[in-house]
Amino acid sequence: METWRQIQKTNFTKICELASFLEIDPSTILKSPFPLNFPRRLAEKVEKGRFDDPLLMQFLPIHQETLKTPGFTSDPVSDCSFQKSPRLLQKYQGRALLITTSACVMNCRFCFRQNYPYEQDKDHTEEIALIKNDSTIHEVILSGGDPLSLSDERLKALIEALSEIPHLKLLRFHTRFPIGIPERITPSFLKILEKTRLQVIFILHTNHPKELDQDVLASLKKIQAPVLTQTVLLKNINDNLGTLKTLFMTLISNGVIPYYLHQLDQIEQAAHFEVPIRKGQKLIHALRAELPGYAIPTYVQEIPHKTSKTPI
Ligand code: SF4
Repeated sequence: METWRQIQKTNFTKICELASFLEIDPSTILKSPFPLNFPRRLAEKVEKGRFDDPLLMQFLPIHQETLKTPGFTSDPVSDCSFQKSPRLLQKYQGRALLITTSACVMNCRFCFRQNYPYEQDKDHTEEIALIKNDSTIHEVILSGGDPLSLSDERLKALIEALSEIPHLKLLRFHTRFPIGIPERITPSFLKILEKTRLQVIFILHTNHPKELDQDVLASLKKIQAPVLTQTVLLKNINDNLGTLKTLFMTLISNGVIPYYLHQLDQIEQAAHFEVPIRKGQKLIHALRAELPGYAIPTYVQEIPHKTSKTPI
């Protein structure tokens, strides 16, 4: 059986190979500094020759990314102003976000951290010392990039070091890995989670019901910790009642809690994904008439320097 690392090596990263596989014109694909990175299992779900496929649109670099749009910037959530170190951000009281790696299982074209000045991967000694010295921090959020890009050995060392900090109570993973490579949820990773004294919480980033298949859902069920989701509201991808309803119903029916629906962060390459807030509010209103309240995420926007995400 292939390991998740071997599977990851089959991701589409070359424009010509993806174009040939999907039977699309390669000249329509942009050569971007934020490169193509598209897991094969997702590419296999895309309808051939269709640019408007809701999976493909999330990952295909297109020329619209080069258009300048007023209000859209390189760091829309002001990440750099929250740095306690280049790899530790603190935006909200009691919580600190660890940039574990720059690597991702997939490169989402609307990622607000696509321009982040990532340092080369190294250990987290400096960040662990900073967390240790601040007893107001109760939760560490493992983010990136995608923390599950790290090997189990590195995750084990990191989680063991964090578990030794007495004032920490919660350990949160922000990941998209199970969507692209569900094989990443390995027995050895699950064992690492079992061993920590910290309460683990998973936040899965998922935007469309096509991302969720039986293998993905089965991998989530293996995680012995609460699994919640965040979804970005994306124009022509999930900005309609039917898609959101199917997405949230599929999640809740499989024990996964829809947590946040995010208004797009205004990253400069992604203006073509933006949905007006008024439309997002109408969609939430319509969902309330169709789904139980616990299946409806909170619609939020990240406004830099507010004390939490802002419900809209
Ligand atoms: S997986 Fe997350 S961090 Fe990585 S590119 Fe997508 S949105 Fe950004």
